[in-house]
Amino acid sequence: MTQLVASRGRGRGVRADQAEVLFAPAAIQRLEAKASLPAKFERLLGRYDLKGMCAGKVVAIKIHVGGELSFTTVPPVFLRLLVRQIKAAGAQSVFITDGTGAVAGAVARGYTAEVLGAPLVGSAGVHEKFYFRHKVNYRSLKEVQVVGNIEAADVLINLSHFKGHGACGYGAACKNLAMGCVTQHSRGALHKLEGGLAYDPQRCTHCRKCVEACNHGAAKWNEAENRLEIFYHHCSYCQHCVMACPHGAIQLQGDGFIPFQHGLALATREVLKTFEPQRVLHINVLMQITVYCDCWGFSTPALVPDVGILASPDIVAVDKASLDATCDGQPLPGSLPPRMELRGGKHLFERIHGKDPYIQIRQMEEVGLGTGNYRLVQVN
Ligand code: SF4
Ligand code: SF4
Repeated sequence: MTQLVASRGRGRGVRADQAEVLFAPAAIQRLEAKASLPAKFERLLGRYDLKGMCAGKVVAIKIHVGGELSFTTVPPVFLRLLVRQIKAAGAQSVFITDGTGAVAGAVARGYTAEVLGAPLVGSAGVHEKFYFRHKVNYRSLKEVQVVGNIEAADVLINLSHFKGHGACGYGAACKNLAMGCVTQHSRGALHKLEGGLAYDPQRCTHCRKCVEACNHGAAKWNEAENRLEIFYHHCSYCQHCVMACPHGAIQLQGDGFIPFQHGLALATREVLKTFEPQRVLHINVLMQITVYCDCWGFSTPALVPDVGILASPDIVAVDKASLDATCDGQPLPGSLPPRMELRGGKHLFERIHGKDPYIQIRQMEEVGLGTGNYRLVQVN
């Protein structure tokens, strides 16, 4: 694990071209509640002018609640502390939000208004029909439909669980907005940018060597139709199946995950467009970091030791700092799914998923979302 090196000042010496990222480490120096992460999180929030940001305003907290039996999402205690400070700052109202389909089941995992101190509401309204259209015109992605309860709010707190992601390498602040604050229709349009593998059934002899060669569980045999099927979320575009096929029946099409990452950067830009910059805060929780996203409906064991919480008004800086903190991590025993093998690559998630997560950082920079040049300030 890369050691995060932080100064202890309060923004001293931050250059104009540098973003400040606050860092509350998970490691504790003393065995007492005041030294634990939730208490540090409260002190981290205290470093921001929440009154100037939230007083008299409608505040949306965007989280990802996961599904079914997942348990590695942001623990409710952190949301409760966040809601308390936003209320104390004089917000007109505060609510927590995620996809309309996801919030109904979240009660079973402890995300209730009683626990959190604020209601959990569907981000696009009860019928997923409350959204705003934004034209983007990138390849097949013609528009992004930004969910209404986010766009109609005055203040956005983007609270994300940092983890791996099969389609783009990692999931955190960028993905929590790009995939989490758009309609189901736009999520599908974004995934469509991934391109894929071309399969020629005429050349295929049904030997299934491609399925055996895939150590990501992405190549599956469709028994009903007697043909190969690719599950792209799992696919790392490693081309093992391409190489394993003795008859050239599989070929790589396009450049796969990179247009998808670019689409995520564009969707994030559209979500943030309607907010004044001083009314947005991004918080990444680097605990129970898993190989895959929380939307699977279950959780795998932690991949690396807990790091802590990182926060910044700059979305690029907070995601870059989160990636840097986990770049050299070695998987904890038992944390990798069966048959998964590490390969080459700079970041741990690239060695797992075959997708360089730092490309996402550069693409966010290119569309003007912030800077990957950051200065870390530790909060104890
Ligand atoms: S490219 Fe790699 S991960 Fe994707 S289906 Fe083929 S073998 Fe599996
Ligand atoms: S390896 Fe090639 S020929 Fe064999 S099942 Fe897969 S696609 Fe068909």
